[in-house]
Amino acid sequence: MSAIPTQHLSQPSLRERFHRRSLDHQRPLSLVTMGFTVVAFLCMVVVRELIRAPSSPLGYRLLCALVLALLVLAIPRAKSTTLFGAIGVAYELVLIGGLVLNASGLTHPLAWLLPAFVVIPICAAPLWLTPAHFATGSALFYAAAIALLRGKAHAPEVDAAVWTWVIAIGAPMAVVFHFGFYRFRRNHFLLESQLAQLAATDPLTGLQNRRSFVKHAEGRLETLAPGARISAIFLDIDSFKSLNDRFGHAVGDHALFQVARVLKDAVALYHSVSRIGGEEFALLIDDDLTGALQLAERLRLDIAAIERPDGHLTASFGVAEHRRGESFMVLLDRADEALLRAKQTGRNRVCAERALPFDALQPPFDDVLAPRYRWEDFYLVSHFQPLYSLSHQKQVGFEALLRGEHDDGTLVPPVVMFAPKPSSDEGALDRASHAVHLGNARRALPGDAWLFLNILPATFVADGYADQLTKIVRAAGLEPERVILEILESHGGSVDEMSRAAARYRQHGFLIAVDDFGAGQSNLDRLLRIRPDIVKLDGELIRATTHGTQQPILPKLVSLLHQAGMLVVVEGVETADELILAVESNVDFAQGFLLGRPAVEIAPPESVHRQIDDAFDVIAQGRAHQYALFESEMEPYRLELRRAADALRAGVTMDDAFALLATFKRCISCFLLDDTGRQIGHEVRGPAWSEDAASLQPVANPRDARWDHRPYFRNAVLLPGEAITSNPYLSLASGRPCIAVTLAAQLASGRCVMGVELDWSARDLPWPAGE
Ligand code: GH3
Ligand code: MG
Ligand code: MG
Repeated sequence: MSAIPTQHLSQPSLRERFHRRSLDHQRPLSLVTMGFTVVAFLCMVVVRELIRAPSSPLGYRLLCALVLALLVLAIPRAKSTTLFGAIGVAYELVLIGGLVLNASGLTHPLAWLLPAFVVIPICAAPLWLTPAHFATGSALFYAAAIALLRGKAHAPEVDAAVWTWVIAIGAPMAVVFHFGFYRFRRNHFLLESQLAQLAATDPLTGLQNRRSFVKHAEGRLETLAPGARISAIFLDIDSFKSLNDRFGHAVGDHALFQVARVLKDAVALYHSVSRIGGEEFALLIDDDLTGALQLAERLRLDIAAIERPDGHLTASFGVAEHRRGESFMVLLDRADEALLRAKQTGRNRVCAERALPFDALQPPFDDVLAPRYRWEDFYLVSHFQPLYSLSHQKQVGFEALLRGEHDDGTLVPPVVMFAPKPSSDEGALDRASHAVHLGNARRALPGDAWLFLNILPATFVADGYADQLTKIVRAAGLEPERVILEILESHGGSVDEMSRAAARYRQHGFLIAVDDFGAGQSNLDRLLRIRPDIVKLDGELIRATTHGTQQPILPKLVSLLHQAGMLVVVEGVETADELILAVESNVDFAQGFLLGRPAVEIAPPESVHRQIDDAFDVIAQGRAHQYALFESEMEPYRLELRRAADALRAGVTMDDAFALLATFKRCISCFLLDDTGRQIGHEVRGPAWSEDAASLQPVANPRDARWDHRPYFRNAVLLPGEAITSNPYLSLASGRPCIAVTLAAQLASGRCVMGVELDWSARDLPWPAGE
């Protein structure tokens, strides 16, 4: 099954490589040989000067030696085989010229030149890189020699000797040496390259092995053009061990071979494919993540079409795109991490790398941030839900909500997207969401609106995140003052850390909100320590009130938060009743389906302000109606209390004075307090007195109790002689909401406050307006 091809020098690329390899081999040899020849030439010049024959001009011969030396020095710099050959030819011509000059004027010049004619071509023969160089060089050498010796007087016998040496020994030896060496070098080269190929190839599949793949990929990354996109695909055959175990290794091997063929067939020439090890393969492709994911999906389908004895082969894929400055091994690791997720989530699937880590989401933005941002096997998109100021009846901001969307536009259910996953980095999704939202808000956020960003406590307290987020916000063309960070109700980060982090974000200008107050782990301490600018009340608070008793808790809570200097948002407003309650509770801002659903587009205000206006109208009318009802409900009690006061002043006993009042249906008890608020005597019980308020037994006996801190006492003392009604409070006698009617009267024994507590727990009762 070996797939290693036999090699021939007829392949142009191979011949080219052979020549380059020859050049590298021959360069030192040529340098030494030619350098040595310059020395030999100088020796001859010196000897020629010593024998006192008629002299030829020394300057020309020294010039020849200088030119020869310069040609030698040019050899290390010769980059191409042609230049290398040209230097060789020039060298031989200058050398023969110099030798002829050196011998001129002598009685037997050929005695000096004959050995050179024979020896020089033989010595040069192995050094010529190609037969063409050899033929050209040798022919020019002999031609120059003939030309230079023409017309010189010498005996025909000498001529015969010279040409016999050249033809019988010099030329044939040169041919033998040149071709002998040439063949040797060529065979050596072919063997070497075949060995290199063997060492780089996986013998079973013929694909690159790991070592060669990594080397090739690293080289590819080093020479990557700026802006070029490159991705890695890592795949592992599923349940391969069972194939081996059940059907034998030969079947396993065949499957590996088939998978390799699918990869080779599907992948263009300029991509590299490797069997990384066992049943794992990797590809490096010149494409971005989206292209790589598409290719991986195609390969997945092709592999799933390969049969195995018990069904079909399948493979799991991890895909990652190269990031600037990242080494190949890191890229491969990220693809491997995605592959692991593909295995963990059921095999036979393609998983993409995790989103860019925060650092990679730095400005410049445009090439990274898009309305849709790839995350695992779906896209992250932003939906925006409006928030309204109830008093202003206008949009004041938008909460950015993260959604996952598949290629075909279907939404990823939030439970899937936010489900804790093995090896997942929750913070990465959180940080990516901020960049995605800011990238989207940049395009669409109205100039006078806040952007509400949800943030996990762990992200909120993370070192350096305040600075980084500020950079992203600015790069998105916004100012931190327009961004409200909603700290989510979740674990991570102690209250101390959060309060310190809140100070850091405030320094940058961000506003802080606490999300979902009234749900989960929210508590007052957390709120008072973080001191958010805005508190978002959980929507359930509104529903609990509208569906439960009529006791309006929300206004009290809102008032408390206002006193602590926090603005209040109520979330989850879905019905007109809930909107009315929100207005009635004096919350500042409201958000919910009734006012606007989350959407990709930032919605114009439409008819919402009408709805809010209606809610105000309903409340205004309701308030007048309630007031009238409440007053008419209270009137009999006030009358009867004034009458009881007259009776007490006339000296009637307490029991008798309260006798009639104590028969009123809602009366829990009647009581008398001295001017310090201490209870005088016992209470006179009415029909609403509850004997079964067992849980309140410890506070059941009010003798000697002090009540001067109660508003009903203080208000009565302020307006002596007037019957005052209190706001609802919890009755310690009945354990239910109650209202007190009190009156301060001057008796003979001194000033006192008399009163009656009325059970106010029934659903249909009107409530006093205002605080
Ligand atoms: P998973 O779906 O989790 O990838 O399970 P798996 O069984 O494919 O993975 P595991 O890593 O447990 O098994 C890989 C097997 O591949 C074990 C090894 O015997 C087999 N294998 C590795 N190299 C070769 C090979 O060259 N030929 C054959 N036939 N089997 C090989
Ligand atoms: Mg496997
Ligand atoms: Mg494996």
